[in-house]
Amino acid sequence: MKHTLFISDLHLCHTRPAINALFERFLRDIAPPAEALYILGDFFEYWAGDDDLSEPFHTAIAQQLSALADSGTRLYLMHGNRDFLIGAAFQRAAHITLLPDPTLIDLYGQPTLLMHGDTLCSDDVEYQAFRTQVRDPQWQQGFLATPLATRKAQIEALRQRSEQEKSSKAAEIMDVNADTVAATLRAFNYPRLIHGHTHRPAKHVHTVDGKTCERWVLKDWYASGGYLRCDAAGCVAHSLEIPAS
Ligand code: MN
Repeated sequence: MKHTLFISDLHLCHTRPAINALFERFLRDIAPPAEALYILGDFFEYWAGDDDLSEPFHTAIAQQLSALADSGTRLYLMHGNRDFLIGAAFQRAAHITLLPDPTLIDLYGQPTLLMHGDTLCSDDVEYQAFRTQVRDPQWQQGFLATPLATRKAQIEALRQRSEQEKSSKAAEIMDVNADTVAATLRAFNYPRLIHGHTHRPAKHVHTVDGKTCERWVLKDWYASGGYLRCDAAGCVAHSLEIPAS
C-alpha cells in the first residue's frame, strides 16, 4: 500500500553511534518501500553551515540519504531550530528537497500541515526572539561569513547555555501553546497537523470551531527512535528500539 513516513528530532551527531546505527537500519529496512520520507527538523544535533559537509560523518549521512532517494523514495527536509543553516549544497548532496515551515500537503486526500513545531511554543518569548534573529537572512549571511571553527565554537557555547536554561524553564513554556495551535489549524482550514520539536510524542485530537483535527507529535531519537507511517487509512506511530549489544 502506498505510504509516507515522517521523522524528526534525530539530533544526529558522531558522538551517538547507537542512534546513528538505528537510523542506518531505518534507511535500509524501513524507508525504501515508502513513496516519500519527510524529515521535520532537528535532523542534526547542529549544522554550522554547508561547508561542514566535508566532515566524514556528514558526508556519510548525505550519501545514505541520496542512496535512498535514488532508489525511488522522495526525500523532504524542513529546518529545525538546530539545523536551520542546512542549505543548497546539502540539498544537492543528499538528493533532498528543502521545505518551508509550515508546508501544507495533500496526504492521500487529507490536507496535512507539516511544521517543525518550535513556532507553536509561543509561550517561550525569549526563544521566539532568538528565532527571529537567527532566521534573518542578513544575520545568517554575516554568521556564515565567519570561519567554520568560530561558528562551531559559538554554537557549542550556545548549546551549553540553552541546556542550563532548559532546566530552569517551566515545562509548560517548552510545550505548544493551545491558542497558537488553534489559530494555526484555523488559518490552514482545519488540516491534520504533524510536527516534532517538543519531544512529547502523542496523538492529540483538537476541536476548533466545531471541526476535529488530529495533531501528531513525532518522537525524538534519544533512548530509542521512531517514525510515523501514514497511508490512505490514516497514521500510525511506530517506535524503533536500539538492539541490546
Ligand atoms: Mn527542535
